[in-house]
Amino acid sequence: MKIDDLGDWRRSHYSSDVTPEMDGEEVILMGWIREIRDLGGIRFIVLQDKLGNVQITIPESEVNEETLSKSSSLHRQDCIAVRGLVRKMEKAPRGVEVIPKEIRILGIARQPLPLDITGKTPADIDVRLDVRVLDLRSDRSQAIFKIRHVVLEATREFLSGRGFLEVNTPKIIASATEGGAALFPIVYFEREAFLAQSPQLYKEELIIDFEKVFEIGPAYRAEKSHTRRHITEFLSIDIEEAFATAEDVMKVAEELMYHICKTVRERCREELRVLNHTFDLPRLPLRRLTYDEVIGELRERGMKIKWGEDIPTAAFRTLGEIHPYFYFITDWPTKLKPFYIKPRDDDPRISEGFDLMWSWIEIASGGTRVHKKELLIERLKEQGLHPESFKFHLQAFDYGMPPHAGWAIGLERLVMMLTGIKNIREVVLFPRDRFRLTP
Ligand code: ATP
Repeated sequence: MKIDDLGDWRRSHYSSDVTPEMDGEEVILMGWIREIRDLGGIRFIVLQDKLGNVQITIPESEVNEETLSKSSSLHRQDCIAVRGLVRKMEKAPRGVEVIPKEIRILGIARQPLPLDITGKTPADIDVRLDVRVLDLRSDRSQAIFKIRHVVLEATREFLSGRGFLEVNTPKIIASATEGGAALFPIVYFEREAFLAQSPQLYKEELIIDFEKVFEIGPAYRAEKSHTRRHITEFLSIDIEEAFATAEDVMKVAEELMYHICKTVRERCREELRVLNHTFDLPRLPLRRLTYDEVIGELRERGMKIKWGEDIPTAAFRTLGEIHPYFYFITDWPTKLKPFYIKPRDDDPRISEGFDLMWSWIEIASGGTRVHKKELLIERLKEQGLHPESFKFHLQAFDYGMPPHAGWAIGLERLVMMLTGIKNIREVVLFPRDRFRLTP
C-alpha cells in the first residue's frame, strides 16, 4: 500500500472539536482507525486522536472513486488524515459525522494486530508490554498516563507554591548512598561508577544553600524481588527542608496528598471513569500510628512481630485492611532506618523516621535527618559503612549544616493507588525489572 506524505495538510480540528453545529464546514482530521465497519454500500470508520473519537462515514454514492478505493484498503490502527465535510447526523455518536473528500494514508498498522486495544479480548501484561507502543493507545493506558501527568503537574504546582526550588542531581555517582547492595554498577571510562538509588545525599547537601529543595527524577534499584510494586527504575519525588523536623515535613506530605487527590478528581474525571475507579479526598491530619501501635494491632490479629523486626508484606496487607486509606507509621526502630535518619534524643533506639502508607502500600518514607557530623560518622560506622567513602558528603557538614528533614515519594506507587491499577508496570511507559530490559 502506498504511504502518503503530510504535504501541506495540517490538522484543523481534534475529533472532539467536531460538533453538529459545524454542519457543512470543511475539516482536516488526523488520527488512528479505532474501528472499521463495512455495511455494503456504506463504510464507517471511528477515527481516534489524543482527545477522543469521531465517526467518518463513507457512503459509496457520495464519495469520489479514489477516496472509496483508499478507504477499502484501510485496517484498524492505520494512521490516516481525512479532509471532509462535517454533517449533522442524529444516529452517529455525538450526533455528528464527517464525509471525506480525500483520505491520506500516513502510516499502516501490520495485520493481524498482536493486541486488541479495546480491551474486549484481554491480554496478559507481558504481551501488552512487548508491544507497548500499541498498548499505550488503549483508553486504559491513555487514562493512566494522563493521571500520571496531572500528579506531576499538581506536585510541581504545590511544591513551587510552598517555596521549594526544583533541582536535578547527578544520576551517575561514585559511591553508594545507603550501602552497596541495591546499586547498579556501571563502567565509567576507566572506573566503576553507580546509578543513583536516591538523591538523598545531594538533596541534604543542597539545603545549606537553598533551604528548601525538591527533585523529581529517576532512582535505580538493583531490586531482585519480583513483585507487583517493585521496579528497577522508578520516579522519585523528593523534598528536603532546612530548619524542619519530621513532623513539619509530614504536614507538607499530607497537604500534598490532599492537593494531588483533589486535582486528579477535578482534572481527570473522564479518566477515572474509564478506569472505573474512585477515591475520597483524604481527611487531614492523617492518622499517625507509631511502630509500637502497629505491632500491637498486628498482635491482636495473631501476627507476632518482635520489637525491632521489619514488618513483613503479609502483615502490611492486614494493616491495609484495618486502615484502607492514607496513614503514617512513625517512631520506627533506629536500626531499621538508614544512617541519615535521626535517632530520638530521649531514646536513641527509636528514630524520627516515618513512612506514609496508602492501605498496605508504602508510598513514601522520610524523617528528621542527622545534622551533626560526629553523630553521622558514628551512624555510618554502626551500619558497616566507611566514612571515607562519604567524604564529599561529610564536607557539607563543615559549612553550617542546619537541622533538616525530608521525604521521598515513589511516584508509581502513588499513581497505582490513584488509578486502582494493581501492577506497577502498567503505570510506567517502558518498565524495567529484573527480567525486562526491553522495549
Ligand atoms: P520497599 O520497602 O517498599 O521496597 P523502600 O523502603 O526500599 O521500599 P525507600 O528507599 O524508602 O523505599 O524509597 C522511598 C519510596 O520510593 C518508597 O516509599 C516507594 O514509594 C518508592 N520505591 C522504593 N523502591 C521502589 C521500587 N523498587 N519500585 C518502585 N518504587 C519504589
